[in-house]
Amino acid sequence: MSGNGKIKVKTPIVEMDGDEMTRVMWQMVKETILLPYLDMELAYYDLHVKHRDETDDQVTVEAATAVMKYGVGVKCATITPNEDRVREYDLKKQWKSPNGTIRGILDGTVFRKPILAKNIKPSVSTWKKPIIIGRHAYGDVYSNAEMRIPAAGKAELLFTPADGGPPLRRTIKEFTEPGVIQGIHNTDASIESFARACFAFAMDEKIDLWFSTKDTISKTYDTRFRDIFAREYEKNWKEKFRKAGIEYFFTLIDDAVARIMKTPGGILWALKNYDGDVMSDMIASANGSLAMMTSVLVSPRGYFEYEAAHGTVQKHYYRHLKGEETSTNSLALIFAWSGCLRKRGELDGTPDVVSFANRLEAAAVETVESGIMTGDLLSVAEENPHNRRVNTGMFIDAVAERLRMKL
Ligand code: NAP
Ligand code: MG
Repeated sequence: MSGNGKIKVKTPIVEMDGDEMTRVMWQMVKETILLPYLDMELAYYDLHVKHRDETDDQVTVEAATAVMKYGVGVKCATITPNEDRVREYDLKKQWKSPNGTIRGILDGTVFRKPILAKNIKPSVSTWKKPIIIGRHAYGDVYSNAEMRIPAAGKAELLFTPADGGPPLRRTIKEFTEPGVIQGIHNTDASIESFARACFAFAMDEKIDLWFSTKDTISKTYDTRFRDIFAREYEKNWKEKFRKAGIEYFFTLIDDAVARIMKTPGGILWALKNYDGDVMSDMIASANGSLAMMTSVLVSPRGYFEYEAAHGTVQKHYYRHLKGEETSTNSLALIFAWSGCLRKRGELDGTPDVVSFANRLEAAAVETVESGIMTGDLLSVAEENPHNRRVNTGMFIDAVAERLRMKL
């Protein structure tokens, strides 16, 4: 407790502001739910797309560097500009995905866990427990080099060894007409830390670990992932898993997707970067809404970055700009803050901060369970005469009110 009766957060938190509807909700959550109760120092980085443009995206790099300095950060959703966005915001260029840039700097694995409420039943009826996604957050298509091929010609993969040894070459395609190519990469070190993070997480939670790749088709790239996981398992986890009564299970991604529909859940599903991106949206949506999913990047060097798994909710923002009412779900943003505060409290040894985070999560879920919810949940919630659709601000106010009673 600090002098003003607020709970003191010892170490600064890196705050990364974002875009559109999530930026609007971010401000509301801070003002209504956090700042009245917490005395915290925020290292603020504005990742609004216009500010990224003005700083030639340096602000994103600075934000990631700050996470390395302080250890824990929280990020709002941000626009990854495409051609439309470049026109809309009059940008210098299609800047890279901020998440991609930050993950490229911090490395690590993104764990995505559904937010469960008793009155929101998953659309897959066999799912009784959460399916947690462990998404490798480094490399592959997110840090690719790609090219339009304008005309006939030969495209090659070329590796030039730094020690002056003979180069390695492979033909990608002898083009006879225009097309496209892309080069992607990963490193053994990053795959190893991905594997370790997943085994450690599964062990921590005492749940089975599944890993799946397309190794039947990608006999070098995806097979490397499979082999590194197998080696890490044999060497460091087999015995521990046996004692804990949990399993490591590798299978082809197609098979994993088919099986996931029949599992009772309660597993960690480790996925390559792209697979994890896509599958986590499927799992979130099957749990009611994209907003019913928490997301944390765990870096092998001990940094943590919390965020919502969804985007900036563009369509709702346009309605908001027109002065129309929105009913946008802030649960994932609230859980990004609670996750970050809990971790900060654990690292700082400040139990009152941890307890605040736990109460905030309980208040948020109980609000939904009491029947007060945003439009996305109303259509999937169990029918109840108490159910009431509220607007964006009213939902946040209702959570704040419940939280106040718990403090
Ligand atoms: P999105 O923001 O995730 O929204 C897609 C749709 O999902 C929404 O139109 C809405 O459906 C529903 N939805 C998502 N979050 C919701 C919430 N909190 N409450 C209620 N409904 C929610 O994806 P997008 O519209 O395709 O992308 C918008 C921008 O976000 C893009 O510029 C993209 O680059 C960016 N993005 C950022 C991140 C990130 O920073 N982590 C991740 C993904 C995308 P209805 O319209 O049916 O209500
Ligand atoms: Mg996605």
